[in-house]
Amino acid sequence: MSAGASALEAAVERVLWDEAAIRRRVRELGAQISRDYQDLLGDALVENPPLAVGIFRGAIVFLADLMRAMPIPLECDYVQLYSYGKGSEAGEIQLLRDLGTPAQGRHILLVEDIVDTGQTLHFLCEHLEARGAASLKICALIDKKPRRRAKIPLDYVGFVLEEDAFVVGYGLDYAERYRNLPYVAVLKPEAIAS
Ligand code: 5GP
Repeated sequence: MSAGASALEAAVERVLWDEAAIRRRVRELGAQISRDYQDLLGDALVENPPLAVGIFRGAIVFLADLMRAMPIPLECDYVQLYSYGKGSEAGEIQLLRDLGTPAQGRHILLVEDIVDTGQTLHFLCEHLEARGAASLKICALIDKKPRRRAKIPLDYVGFVLEEDAFVVGYGLDYAERYRNLPYVAVLKPEAIAS
């Protein structure tokens, strides 16, 4: 292993979901979501395909894999928010980048990396509903339950996290690092600056 690779992995305390577990779960989610849209929309799926909207940057990796696990007509877009900034403390939510596609009449699948307090999704659901989306579903890779404040109906969840741990990897960062880890992990305390 190179010095760079070992420095990256040396910060990891424990792996919660490894590559194989994520691959399996993303495939299951993709198949289930596709079946549900086929049942919901029937032939209209071809004329008005669902719009998968990734919440960047955290959902970059998940969106890319989930889309390829959905064998139906599909479009994609992204929004970018500022909430955590540097580090692990929650901050204010700002919309840095809105949809490039009009939401009016679209069947939107919001793709989120992790739901914590629920504030981000609460903000985005209101934003998209005000723009006339025909339907709105939410798919979150991780449902982190302990700090939930806003009641958000999660239609699809990859994994449930019952502990209040700050996780990284598979798109999730700490101070913009660790997004490229292929698994989801908890960092060692010394890797997190106080
Ligand atoms: P919420 O608005 O639900 O409190 O927070 C959602 C956002 O906070 C996520 O999209 C993610 O960017 C960030 N976040 C929440 N928990 C974690 C975590 O454990 N690790 C990382 N890397 N980001 C988190």
